[in-house]
Amino acid sequence: MTADESQSDHAEESAVETARRQLERAATHLDVDEGIVDRLRYPKDVYRVTIPLERDDGSREMLTGYRAHHDNVRGPYKGGLRYHPGVTEEECVGLAMWMTWKCAVMDIPFGGGKGGVVVDPKDLSDDEKERLTRRFAEELRPVIGPMKDIPAPDMGTDPATMAWFMDAYSMQEGETSPGIVTGKPPVVGGSYGREEAPGRSVGIITREAMDYYGWDPAETTVAVQGFGSVGANAARYLDDLGASVVAVSDVDGAIYDPDGLDTTDVEDHDERPGMVSGYDAPESLTNEQLLELDVDVLIPAAIGNVLTGMNAREVSADMIVEGANGPATSDADRIFEEREIPVIPDIVANAGGVTVSYFEWLQDINRRKWSVERVNDELEAEMCSAWEAIRKEYDTRDVTWRDATYIVALERIAEGHEARGLWP
Ligand code: NAD
Repeated sequence: MTADESQSDHAEESAVETARRQLERAATHLDVDEGIVDRLRYPKDVYRVTIPLERDDGSREMLTGYRAHHDNVRGPYKGGLRYHPGVTEEECVGLAMWMTWKCAVMDIPFGGGKGGVVVDPKDLSDDEKERLTRRFAEELRPVIGPMKDIPAPDMGTDPATMAWFMDAYSMQEGETSPGIVTGKPPVVGGSYGREEAPGRSVGIITREAMDYYGWDPAETTVAVQGFGSVGANAARYLDDLGASVVAVSDVDGAIYDPDGLDTTDVEDHDERPGMVSGYDAPESLTNEQLLELDVDVLIPAAIGNVLTGMNAREVSADMIVEGANGPATSDADRIFEEREIPVIPDIVANAGGVTVSYFEWLQDINRRKWSVERVNDELEAEMCSAWEAIRKEYDTRDVTWRDATYIVALERIAEGHEARGLWP
């Protein structure tokens, strides 16, 4: 199972606080109506629903679900549905705000949404998960729709969950509506290339960043924390490009080969759990040691908050590309800025996931399937165009890559509000 668009809790600030801090930092560089910035500090609305779940033993439980809508000035709300015991209304709002910024920086015609159910998916049988999903789809039906709000998988949910969700919604609507969710299996309207897309986009953005700094891929060393969906696809993309991927890890530890690993020979966590740390490599390291390796590019692609005020001074990489969501805390960010280590942020680097979700939605509403070659070509074009917009801001202002990215996002959202005249 992969963790689509998910974010671990920030140790020092919540997702809402992070999203607001980034908004406020970007706003200081732009001449944006203060009313628009004020409005973007808050969600447009948040729905809370009660989901009765009948357990396999016949007992009943009332579960709580949420769907937060942050901003839809640029298009329908878009964002994952998470099944996790830690889901809260505030977390959904914060992650919905992140989705608004991410869609805007990619120039995708979507706004930000996020939702979830407070439940531990490990406690659910497949039948219980299906009943829960169908009932959740029905409870959310008044506030979602292919032109209104399009959910996707996230922590604890997967393509099978999306297929049930789509089926339940379609039955109630009386017509097959594949465009109601993305991340479905390709047989019911999912897109080829969706699974590989976030890692692929990390690879593309790393390639562009290396090019910006004039680094020859053949002379570049890379370390990737978390050889899962995002990490393995990014590592293999860069390996194909000629870079030397010297270290990768899973939850149990890291492997290191100064001459470069064969990233197709190392099986990823999903392919064979435990096989990363168990691989026969010249050296084994801890995950902490991997983060401090003297490499050109460090790609944290496992979980959030791995780069903190405690270890940021020990990082020896010349550039960091965020594969995971929120891998650097704001303390770490400050230290990297002071040390002049470029950090290419998550909201662009791993945005291949939401970008191919957008392609999936286009395929669904047009009833026309794209080949994986077309998906990858269009992804390449979207990523390069987002990078170009960010690079322009970076080159014309004295800001970090993260600030440049949020400036691009906020500028587009603010222009949308101004053009539509929703404020004042
Ligand atoms: P995944 O489960 O496929 O892989 C995660 C990898 O990290 C595995 O190799 C696992 O062993 C390792 N790992 C887990 N805990 C670890 C720890 N404490 N220390 C070191 N390694 C650890 O997950 P994924 O889908 O690749 O997601 C990775 C990150 O990327 C998450 O932050 C996720 O939110 C983000 N992301 C994923 C997608 C997506 O669509 N898959 C999209 C955008 C962002």
